[in-house]
Amino acid sequence: MVVKKAYDAITQLMYGNASYLSAKVSGSDISPALRERLRDEGQKPIAVILTCSDSRVVPEDIFMCGLGELFVVRVAGNVADEAQIASVVYAVEHLGVPLVMVLGHTHCGAVTAVMEGYEDESLAPLTSQIAEAIEGESDLERACCLNALASVERLREVPELMELEDAGKLTMLAALYHIGSGRIEMLDQQRGTTEA
Ligand SMILES: [Zn+2]
Repeated sequence: MVVKKAYDAITQLMYGNASYLSAKVSGSDISPALRERLRDEGQKPIAVILTCSDSRVVPEDIFMCGLGELFVVRVAGNVADEAQIASVVYAVEHLGVPLVMVLGHTHCGAVTAVMEGYEDESLAPLTSQIAEAIEGESDLERACCLNALASVERLREVPELMELEDAGKLTMLAALYHIGSGRIEMLDQQRGTTEA
């Protein structure tokens, strides 16, 4: 079951993605009036999106969201290391975001590098986590799914996040973005309970 507020957020995101599939320009609200309102009232994003730095994966466009709607954490390979986890905790605890989506994507270069045995010590913070997640998987798309799911599990190791999810105040899930078609595919069962 999904938290009510998270369900509303998922509905908005998927509606936005449906619009994106046939869009030629971004349709999100980036107006001066909205900028000023967000400055005065602060941000209240509907979701955290932890995704890859890949230039083809742009959450605000994929979900047709404007200023102030998404709290985006981007890192190559959408891994959940200390800084990413801290960013998610900040958004959930201080901004009250009800939904965390780890958004992996097809044809991910970081996952491909790990599958091809690329070894560079400076990339180890990324590749070691991805290698652990994909466990020798030989199919790239399946490996990208496993990698996104593993980041959700890493977030679930954080007591603050787990408590909120168990209390029905937070939903964390994984999804896969298909870079050619633009479609979002949900990957796992959500946890948590439905609010009345
Ligand atoms: Zn990627």
